[in-house]
Amino acid sequence: MDLLNKKFLLTPGPVPVPPRALLAMARPVIHHRLPEFSAILKRIREDLKYLFQTREEVLFFASSGTGAMEACVANLFSPGEEVIVVRGGKFGERWGELAEIYGLKPVYIDVPWGEAVEVETVAEVLKAHPEARGLLIQAHETSTGVKHPVEQIAPLTRERETLLVVDAISALGVYPLPFDELGIDAMVAGSQKSLALPPGLSFVALSARARKRAEETSGPRYYFDFRREFKALEKETTAFTPAVSLLYGLSEVLSRIREVGLERLFAHYRLLAGACRAGIKTLGLELFAKEPCEALTIVKVPEGVDGAKLMKLMREKYRVTMAGGQAKLKGKVVRIAHLGYQSELDVILALATLEMALSELGYQITLGAGVSAAQKYFLEAQR
Ligand SMILES: *Cc1c(COP(=O)(O)O)cnc(C)c1O
Repeated sequence: MDLLNKKFLLTPGPVPVPPRALLAMARPVIHHRLPEFSAILKRIREDLKYLFQTREEVLFFASSGTGAMEACVANLFSPGEEVIVVRGGKFGERWGELAEIYGLKPVYIDVPWGEAVEVETVAEVLKAHPEARGLLIQAHETSTGVKHPVEQIAPLTRERETLLVVDAISALGVYPLPFDELGIDAMVAGSQKSLALPPGLSFVALSARARKRAEETSGPRYYFDFRREFKALEKETTAFTPAVSLLYGLSEVLSRIREVGLERLFAHYRLLAGACRAGIKTLGLELFAKEPCEALTIVKVPEGVDGAKLMKLMREKYRVTMAGGQAKLKGKVVRIAHLGYQSELDVILALATLEMALSELGYQITLGAGVSAAQKYFLEAQR
């Protein structure tokens, strides 16, 4: 450890992990075919249902979030079937790539980056494609900071054989997405986002009809086989060796989430995002997303500033890692995450760092203006 090099992680995955979870993960490894493991698994299964707001089972895998996305495509559809893919950013593109690799026929709804899909457009495309077996979408498209209107889209897929598959990797636990109430069929999450854990666990909640669909589809699958996992859970274990240490951390975080309650968790993210945006606007900077999500704040790199230099300066001089833009947004935006183990002062830290770095790169800015706006936001929110 270098005393002069304290680091800060403000990216939308991975995220800072609370010390209690880190300590829990340092516990000795146990064998996963013993009653001791079954006891932990039982608690985790219950707590996952609370987090996903469902009575259905939530499966998990030892993979990053993309693994659970792949599992959905492999299990819920057969080769040659048509699926509708909402493509408004890097992760929407990923749904499309997966669908193509598994031999499905994706019908794309292309949405300009930074905008949410229109509910009417989804309704029209569903109408034009009565055979579509699935609708694949992001709840929050992390590359653009946009929230898609999943709660309005869900009713459109209820009355037909189209499974609604939602990538909620950066949305679960950040804002309400009640799985049962909305009637979602599959919802994916990952450990290194709002669950405030290291990377390495993925999750998927499945409706009764999605579970049934997984029994009927014909495509190949092996590790990511829902049928196998359901069977193993009946015996209170997992199909393959689970990521035991990560599950210790998960158990710790999930029980904290239950203690705190979802409502307070959602309010916490609203507060952090609200303050960050107040700071950014006061600095005269522009937000990228039209329908921003509480998970992160995306700021346009101002005219005349080199985005790559800005990120590098913040990372190397102040050791604050925020995320830059992905794909066509590379060098054009800064993504400040609020996800994970964060507090009001992380927002202050992000704004202060951005102010210093912009100023150092010759951009005209009033040092402290953004910080001050965020401070005021926090103080007013307390009243
Ligand atoms: C992070 C993220 C992913 C990818 O997850 P990995 O864990 O990196 O595989 C997919 N979708 C969304 C919306 C994300 O935020």
